[in-house]
Amino acid sequence: METEITQSMKLQTKAVHAGDRRKPSPATPSTTPIYTASSFFYDDVETLDRVFSDEEQGYCYSRYDNPTNSALEELLAALESGAGALATSSGMSAIHVALLSALTDRRRSIVASSALYGATIRLLMNILEPSGVDVRWVDITNRAEVENAVREANPGCILTETISNPLLRVAPIDELAGLARQAGAALVVDNTFATPLMCRPLELGAHLSVHSVTKYLAGHGDVLGGAIICDASHLSTLRTLAKTSGPNLGPFESYLTMRGIKTFPLRMERQCANAAHIASWLASHPKVSAVYFPGAPNHPDSATTARLFPSGLFGAMVSFDLKDGDRNEVFRFINALKLIVRATSLGDVHTMVLYPAMSSHRDISPAQRRRLGIGDNLVRLSIGIEDHEDVIADLDEALSAI
Ligand SMILES: *Cc1c(COP(=O)(O)O)cnc(C)c1O
Repeated sequence: METEITQSMKLQTKAVHAGDRRKPSPATPSTTPIYTASSFFYDDVETLDRVFSDEEQGYCYSRYDNPTNSALEELLAALESGAGALATSSGMSAIHVALLSALTDRRRSIVASSALYGATIRLLMNILEPSGVDVRWVDITNRAEVENAVREANPGCILTETISNPLLRVAPIDELAGLARQAGAALVVDNTFATPLMCRPLELGAHLSVHSVTKYLAGHGDVLGGAIICDASHLSTLRTLAKTSGPNLGPFESYLTMRGIKTFPLRMERQCANAAHIASWLASHPKVSAVYFPGAPNHPDSATTARLFPSGLFGAMVSFDLKDGDRNEVFRFINALKLIVRATSLGDVHTMVLYPAMSSHRDISPAQRRRLGIGDNLVRLSIGIEDHEDVIADLDEALSAI
């Protein structure tokens, strides 16, 4: 039975029904599902010929399309109201291909948030700029600065994250979409931290939304993958680019991601609730001098957060400053944790801790880090689905140990 997915269905329903239980394709895989087959055959070569020429829908080669991947892609498009989606081998390959799609037939110029994920900054600086793409960096939460940059640079693309790392600023996606449309630019949003539960960028006017599915969507720390969800006007460019450059996710990872997504709304709701508890507990701890959390009453983007996110959901990332702390003290604190996992990445079912000065912002000079507001005493937590009291007990014990 194939369930008909309607636009009005809720996210939680789409998460468990979209993409699955499709009628078997008339194509027979030449090896067995999980569809690891690289090619597909038909009873006659004429059919294969029609599939090659796109006259007839069907699978022929897995770099073009694969049944496991297209089930996941259908699910991703349903979650974020896209015309289509592409599952990619990593979040970074998703961002790369999304930017190439956005810049096809547009000015090779990007206005980018200066608070992007570290590898995205390196992608722009070390790969795109040397290939002739002009990049202009802005504080994406400062409307006047963005307007000015768009006027001066006349970009083909505006690039931002919904929630930035590690200071968790919230970008006004709806306003940026307006600016992008006026300028004829594509708005590309890295929606990894917000997830489709909190924000669906295409519904707010963005053209392409990207994810590291490695994080909340797959959710269990066992997949490296990415996704692009796009509007109708970018779909054929995106598929053609993918067909040619081959950024595909492997079918086994597609399967795991799809399995993960079924429980993602449940996990994310719990993770957001846990994060809110933990952020307010940290805010009153004497060894913590600042907490960065979109749900905090003094958060600089609270108006944007209230406008864009469902009430009570602020994401599941919490950053904080250790009072008068330095690198040694942060290391002692992190080493004293017994439950919280000392590892890079985020969005897993277990709570994780990371030191941005050592990881995402390692290559940036201490002075530049300080200008960005990232001190040597800043710690980032990705909150999991555990009971929040156990996580707080672990934090409490480690804070007492320093
Ligand atoms: C992890 C991450 C990426 C990169 O994703 P990979 O799957 O590691 O390639 C990009 N953007 C954000 C916001 C991320 O957290």
